[in-house]
Amino acid sequence: MNSLIQIGLTGGIASGKTTAAVTLATLGAHVIDTDALARRALDPGMPGFEAAVRVFGREILNADGAIDRERLGDIVFADAQQRQRLNDIVHPEVRTAWQGELIELKRAGWRGVVTVVIPLLYEVAAQDWFDAVIAVGCAETTQRQRLRERGLSGAQAEARIRAQLPMTAKMEHADFVVWNECSLAVLEQQMTRIWKRLESLAPADGNISD
Ligand code: ATP
Repeated sequence: MNSLIQIGLTGGIASGKTTAAVTLATLGAHVIDTDALARRALDPGMPGFEAAVRVFGREILNADGAIDRERLGDIVFADAQQRQRLNDIVHPEVRTAWQGELIELKRAGWRGVVTVVIPLLYEVAAQDWFDAVIAVGCAETTQRQRLRERGLSGAQAEARIRAQLPMTAKMEHADFVVWNECSLAVLEQQMTRIWKRLESLAPADGNISD
């Protein structure tokens, strides 16, 4: 068994992936959030920022010169080809940052569970990179409601939901499925139960052979 196991945490938009990952982090997992890495890849001064402005034009910039994420989102979620162009810029940057973080962890002798939050895990066929995959799901009405609470219109929410594989496909392929339609306390309980199973794959006592 490896000294470090990598778990993929995926699911639909606004299904509760980040919230689930917070519980795993509390329990002792090291969490790598590829959404955060993707956002960072488009920050001013990053190579992804320059590439995105080259591809999509200066109209994606807001007054202070940063990328207007909502405007860029509206462009790419309305058109699969545009989405692919953005993914071609962002995904390599995300992979480099994620792999760099893993190398650092291994160099530091870190042992245990690394959880990688990766919304498009199945869409980019990344399942083989992981020792196990957790899918967090919820009903589409719940997704729409959570996106509305974030200030997205019905059309914006719909475009973002349709840009991903249906939740049922993600759930069908995952090793663990969490149906996040109950309270936050229940989600925490579900994640704690999964954590116990993961710990048996990568005991925290450091007695893991490479
Ligand atoms: P995204 O796809 O946008 O990254 P996500 O899958 O990471 O979203 P979260 O950000 O974890 O989803 O959750 C979306 C919203 O729903 C948050 O405001 C979160 O607090 C809320 N939420 C998640 N799970 C529950 C729950 N069981 N009960 C109530 N609210 C919840």
